[in-house]
Amino acid sequence: MQNYSIRKRVLITGGAGFLGSHLADRMIAAGHDVLVVDNFYTGTKDNIRHLLGNPHFELMRHDVTFPLYVEVDEIYNLACPASPVHYQFDPVQTTKTSVHGAINLLGLAKRTKAKILQASTSEVYGDPEVHPQVETYWGHVNCIGIRACYDEGKRCAETLFFDYWRQHKVKIKVIRIFNTYGPRMHPNDGRVVSNFIVQALRNEDITLYGDGNQTRSFCYVDDLIEGMIRLMNTGDDVTGPVNVGNPGEFTIRELAEKVIELTGSSSKLVFKPLPQDDPRQRKPDITLAKSLLGWQPTIALEAGLKKTIAYFDDLLSGRFG
Ligand code: NAD
Ligand code: UDP
Ligand code: UDP
Repeated sequence: MQNYSIRKRVLITGGAGFLGSHLADRMIAAGHDVLVVDNFYTGTKDNIRHLLGNPHFELMRHDVTFPLYVEVDEIYNLACPASPVHYQFDPVQTTKTSVHGAINLLGLAKRTKAKILQASTSEVYGDPEVHPQVETYWGHVNCIGIRACYDEGKRCAETLFFDYWRQHKVKIKVIRIFNTYGPRMHPNDGRVVSNFIVQALRNEDITLYGDGNQTRSFCYVDDLIEGMIRLMNTGDDVTGPVNVGNPGEFTIRELAEKVIELTGSSSKLVFKPLPQDDPRQRKPDITLAKSLLGWQPTIALEAGLKKTIAYFDDLLSGRFG
C-alpha cells in the first residue's frame, strides 16, 4: 500500500525488548510512525510505557511465528529471546521464532517492498576458531547442542534473508550483533552484565561460570542502535552481514572485578559449572562497519557500566514509578 505520509512506517518486531525499545525511542525521535510487534516472551510493556500515549506509536501483541499483514516501509526484525537461559527454556519455540518469524517477515517485506533488517548475532560464529571474528568466517557451531536452537535458528534466518534477496529481490540488511548491554535489560535476564550488576548491588555472590577466563566484547546499547540504524540507511546494494560490536575484549573475571569496583560492593566471586558449548572467546572485527557505515563505538566499558549500574540501582531501589 502506498505511503501517503512523509513519515516512514517502521515495524519493530521484538520492540518491547531491551534493544527494540531503544530502537523505538530513536525512530519516534526521528519523526517516524512506529509499530511494535511483540508477544512479551521476554520483553515487557514497561520498556515502552513512555511511548504508549504517542499518536505515532502503536503496540500489537503478536507472535511472529504467525503471519502478519500490515503496511510498512521498513522492518527491523528483532523478535527472539537473546539470553541463553530464556532461549533454552523453550528451544523449539526459539527455532520457530527465528525461522518461521523470518519467513513471515520476509513474505511481508516481499509483498510491501519494505526494506528489512535482521538482528543476527555473533553466535553464528559459534565457539570461534578465528579471532577476532570477521564476517567472512563461516563459524564453528555444534548443530545438536543446547545453544543450537538459537545459533542455528539465526543462521537459517540469515540463509532465508539471502535467498529472498537472490530469488525475490527483497531489500535485506543483516547485522551481526555482539554482546550488548545497558539500561532496560531485565534484572532476571540471565546475561552476564545484568547478572553481575544485580548481584553486586545486592551484595550477593557473583556467579562466574567456569574459570572466568572466557572472553566477551561488550557494546553499550546506544552505540549498537546507532550502528543498526546506519546499516538500515545504506543503499539497496548493501546487504551485510556486518559485525556491530565493541572490540574491547575482557575476560568474564575482569568484568566481575570491574563491576565490584564500580558498585563498591562487598560481593565475593563464586565459581559455577561452565554451560555446554559456551564460547571461549569473542571479539568483533569491525573493519567493515567502519568503512561501510562510518561507525565505531564511542562508549568505553567503564562509562557504559556506570550508566547501567545507575539504571539498576534505581530499579532495584524502587525509584521508578
Ligand atoms: P530481548 O529478549 O530483550 O528482546 C527480544 C524481544 O523479542 C522480547 O521483547 C520478546 O518478548 C520478543 N519475542 C520473542 N519471541 C517472540 C515471538 N515469537 N514473537 C514476537 N516477539 C517475540 O533481547 P534483546 O537483547 O533486545 O535482543 C533483540 C534481538 O537482538 C534478538 O533478535 C537477539 O537475538 C539479537 N541480539 C542481541 C544481542 C544482545 O547482546 N543484546 C546480541 C546478539 C543478537
Ligand atoms: N506473509 C505474511 N505477511 C505478508 C505476506 C506474507 O505474514 O504480508 C507470510 C505468508 O503467510 C507466508 C510467508 O509470509 O507464509 C512467506 O511469504 P511468501 O510470499 O514468500 O510465500 P508464499 O505465500 O508464496 O508461501
Ligand atoms: N556468565 C557468567 N555468569 C553469569 C552469566 C554468564 O560467568 O551469571 C558467562 C557465560 O558463561 C558466558 C559469558 O558470561 O561465558 C557471557 O554470557 P551471556 O549469557 O551474557 O552471553 P553469551 O554467552 O550468549 O555471549
